[in-house]
Amino acid sequence: MESGLKEVIFTGRSNVGKSTLFSALLKVNVKKGKKPGTTIKPNVFKIGNLMFTDLPGFGYVKGVEREFNEKIKDFVVHYIEKNSDRIVCAVEVIDAKAFLEIVERLERRGYIPVEIEMFDFLNEFEFRVFVAANKMDKVDDSKLLDKIAEKLGIVGDWRNIIYPTSAKKGEVENLKRALKAHLGSLGIKGIGKAFRS
Ligand code: GDP
Repeated sequence: MESGLKEVIFTGRSNVGKSTLFSALLKVNVKKGKKPGTTIKPNVFKIGNLMFTDLPGFGYVKGVEREFNEKIKDFVVHYIEKNSDRIVCAVEVIDAKAFLEIVERLERRGYIPVEIEMFDFLNEFEFRVFVAANKMDKVDDSKLLDKIAEKLGIVGDWRNIIYPTSAKKGEVENLKRALKAHLGSLGIKGIGKAFRS
């Protein structure tokens, strides 16, 4: 492993609030990303030997070519494969409000939804996988997280995997606590400096 560098990655479909969550959790001012469809470049926040990476959002976006979309997915997959030794956890961000509808629509058409594909892919590695169920402020179904867990194929208790957040409102406390605890349990230093308090 290269010089003890440890990495936390954020993945997710475009527009789920991934960059909002990234800056709600971390002491970073994220530059507003370029319009999708131009460059593929992760947004990185590095503090000491700890690195947080906001990977490009994948999935269909209005105005973005399908071909470019495939390039983003390939980039993300290759990035994770290449850096898996230093990755200590992944946060897959989903839009809790839109998730079931999107997934069910794609499944009806015979596709494997990219968010489920990504969740399965992430779970093939040694690192821990968290799901941030974002935009919870728009959700009124108290059983929604159970349903999301079922769709993701999580067996048993999902409470240490799925964390509800409302990044826009800065409500990310439970996820932040879980991430800090996980990184702390691995003996990683500099955690206090990385997260917003
Ligand atoms: P990204 O493409 O996943 O990085 O998404 P952004 O962070 O750019 O957010 C996409 C849109 O969702 C923006 O209009 C955000 O203000 C909005 N958003 C992000 N988080 C939340 C949230 O928790 N609740 C609601 N209602 N909107 C959110």
